[in-house]
Amino acid sequence: NDNPEYNVPVAVNNAVFSKVPTEGLTGNLRLVCLSDDALAEVLDLHPAVAEDPDFIDFVAGKYLPDGGMSVCHRYGGYQFGFWADQLGDGRAHILGEYVNRKSESWQPQLKGSGETPYSRFGDGRAVLRSSVREMIASEACHALGVPTTRAGALVVSDDHLVYRDMHYSGRARQERAAAVLRLAPAWYRLGSLEILHKRKEPELAGRLADFIIENHFKEIDPAEEDRYVKWFSAVAHKNLDMVATWQGTGFTHGVLNTDNVSVLGLTIDYGPYGFMDHYNEHFVPNSSDDMGRYAFNRQPGIIIWNLNKFSEALAPILTEYQIQKIEEIKATLEEYVKNKVLATYLRKLGLNNKIEGDTELVDSLLQLMQDTSADFTMTFRQLGELESAELQDTARLNEKWSLKKLATSGDKWAAWVKRYQDRINKESVPESERRARMCRVNPLYVPRNWIMQEAIADAEKNDFEKVRFLLQVLRKPYDVNAEAEARGFSAEPPSWAYGIKLSCSS
Ligand code: AMP
Ligand code: MG
Ligand code: MG
Repeated sequence: NDNPEYNVPVAVNNAVFSKVPTEGLTGNLRLVCLSDDALAEVLDLHPAVAEDPDFIDFVAGKYLPDGGMSVCHRYGGYQFGFWADQLGDGRAHILGEYVNRKSESWQPQLKGSGETPYSRFGDGRAVLRSSVREMIASEACHALGVPTTRAGALVVSDDHLVYRDMHYSGRARQERAAAVLRLAPAWYRLGSLEILHKRKEPELAGRLADFIIENHFKEIDPAEEDRYVKWFSAVAHKNLDMVATWQGTGFTHGVLNTDNVSVLGLTIDYGPYGFMDHYNEHFVPNSSDDMGRYAFNRQPGIIIWNLNKFSEALAPILTEYQIQKIEEIKATLEEYVKNKVLATYLRKLGLNNKIEGDTELVDSLLQLMQDTSADFTMTFRQLGELESAELQDTARLNEKWSLKKLATSGDKWAAWVKRYQDRINKESVPESERRARMCRVNPLYVPRNWIMQEAIADAEKNDFEKVRFLLQVLRKPYDVNAEAEARGFSAEPPSWAYGIKLSCSS
């Protein structure tokens, strides 16, 4: 679609992409941070690009790389359970496709790079605080084994200002515009197909489905009659595998609308997300999610709800028989994700195989964590730092701040420890092996909201040290880092961190 009216909100018809130029950030630009890993692994770039003004201009959307083409993707979505119609890339531009040294194909994308046909009421820009959060979480999730889009670099302008209303004050204020270079093999969302269904464009839906299958689902034969059934199954299982990793890291997305769920099963669109501090199954990081629709413990069910909508969107390109087949797949998803999540927690407890009673072992621990406000991240880490015999030893427990909280439940803690010890014995895994396993899967460091708030406050004053340090620590979230310890990254969060919520304003 070559619609030239890209500066006004338009209903785009019969298109998957609109060709739209980026509008570069104006004013004096600063490079806030880079992900050396993402730039090297994805784009074959050396970290020295940090010194190259051309690279900063590129991230600011001032020019396209040779052979690039700037497009915005059209999609729709269900937001908080209701069909919101056309959404699309309102402030993001895909810059083309890059095939790297490993022959992997990636699509660099800028977020915050100007208005598009899909901007609706927005200004096409992103502010520094939300861009820092996107940058850090993308790279942290990647290191934590959470399937995710990546982030390569973040640029902010001194002079390019935008208005944002701050929900907590109810007042508008000016903030500096920023842009993030995001990276993914492709940017299709469940809503990419939904918009075609709602606008009755089945021919295009079939072509898009075939294109995605051929390019991004190599395991499916594109000539096969039942390819859409296999595709649904793959999209469903990839997304359920992803959500199981969220449940294992305490990551709560915050805005799980169908436009924010990738067809590739990648975590996408980091907004008012949160990594839990103290465990609360009802944790809701998004201040505008009053009903708790996207609470931590609802995430697997919400992904299934979203997949259900996705299957409705596919119906026009399916035969009756294929619809029936997809219904049969859908009937298995709840059980599938339940087992995935259980397996995730068992791994976190240093256990390999699921046996009778394991659901209760996990559930009773989570209940104790809920009752005692034990820390999600550090409870699992500290369980792996002690010999299981030491879990009853008050002196040793007192050295581990999160376990100390759990132990305040007295007899209940003693009963759980007994159960855990029996379970470890049944698997006959040596203590050293159990503890080594646990330290490989249970991180010390996750991007806690309080840590990011401090880094953002400094970044607003052009001091990017904390942002860069955080990125560096989160590359290796399982390894003890002396400086991170000194800064309290694995210690009990400060009291002001309790109950931080984030707004969607970004
Ligand atoms: P979200 O709820 O953040 O996933 O965004 C939903 C839609 O709003 C997407 O199409 C975004 O591109 C768009 N959007 C969000 N913020 C802006 C903005 N500042 N300018 C233009 N579009 C925006
Ligand atoms: Mg979004
Ligand atoms: Mg967003």
